[in-house]
Amino acid sequence: MTITLTDTEIENARAVAAAFEAARRIALTTHVNPDGDGLGSEVGLAHLLRGMGKEVVVANPTATAPRFEFLFEDLPGVDRTTDAVRQVRRADLVVVLDISDTGRLGNLGPIVREHGAPVVCIDHHASPGALPPGPRYVDSSAAATGELIYELAFANQWPVTVPVARALYVALVTDTGGFRFSNTHPRTLRVAADLLETGIDPETIYLDVYANAPEGRPRLLSEVLQTLVVEPEHGLAWVTVPPGAIDRYQLTADDLDGIVEHPRSIAGMRLAVLFREVSQNRIKVSLRSVGDVDVAEFAHQFGGGGHAKAAGAAIPGSMAEVQATVLGAARAFLDRSGDR
Ligand code: 5GP
Ligand code: MN
Repeated sequence: MTITLTDTEIENARAVAAAFEAARRIALTTHVNPDGDGLGSEVGLAHLLRGMGKEVVVANPTATAPRFEFLFEDLPGVDRTTDAVRQVRRADLVVVLDISDTGRLGNLGPIVREHGAPVVCIDHHASPGALPPGPRYVDSSAAATGELIYELAFANQWPVTVPVARALYVALVTDTGGFRFSNTHPRTLRVAADLLETGIDPETIYLDVYANAPEGRPRLLSEVLQTLVVEPEHGLAWVTVPPGAIDRYQLTADDLDGIVEHPRSIAGMRLAVLFREVSQNRIKVSLRSVGDVDVAEFAHQFGGGGHAKAAGAAIPGSMAEVQATVLGAARAFLDRSGDR
């Protein structure tokens, strides 16, 4: 194992371990529409906690996307998302992963807030949120929450077995865009190297996550790309998911993952947006930036958040209203942010 941790990191990791040791039944949860980092972190941690003899369940506010179900293959009965409210209530320790707030925990938000049990938080988001008290292991310089789970294991000398490594590798690969994004730090690759040392196969994991798609996914991609609008004068490009398209192809929001990289990939772009109607009068925007444009800061004005180069928000209004507001604000924001 090759990483080094600061004294503070080791101290925080020990405090998290002490909370785990004191607990009997632990519920792991993450944000709505859990991604590869949220789920990979949960599964990696679930294996580690089982190794300590703990009873552990995963209880998320929304369902596991089909392409991540393979992560639970060797954890039968652990994904209790369909029964999440009861599972969180029954736990004597709640662990919130990949989010530092109850705001994006969906219907579990109030349950976690009012539970009374300590809440451990392990996260790499920049915006501090409000959670009930408990040990924190939060580092916004980490590429993924999965990287932090690895640090916890490293600091506490928990054995990183093949199933742990596989799950954490999924977390790293998905949150770094396959080790391409600016969050890919030397430590990220050191952690990835340690994970590969366990013998996991990167190509098998790649195929499971990215090359096991229903036919509808590329068809949906082609429909969304047809909507592309580019404003070179602002460095702004956006796409819109046609209403009902996800259902028409029997897909889920997870199948939109990565589409916003296409508008972002055009030369001269500084901000890329994907608009999607999540329900009547509620629009989700996915924001990606290039260079020094901080999309987390941009998202804050709409009640959203995230990271400097990847952020989002769910905004009330019709598609036309939200597009007018967000695009107007984006042009002004880009003009203020100066030239690249
Ligand atoms: P995505 O665009 O892939 O859904 O999300 C990218 C990042 O933006 C996520 O990792 C998350 O940090 C942040 N994000 C997305 N949607 C929301 C939202 O509705 N509220 C907040 N606070 N953050 C969001
Ligand atoms: Mn993450």
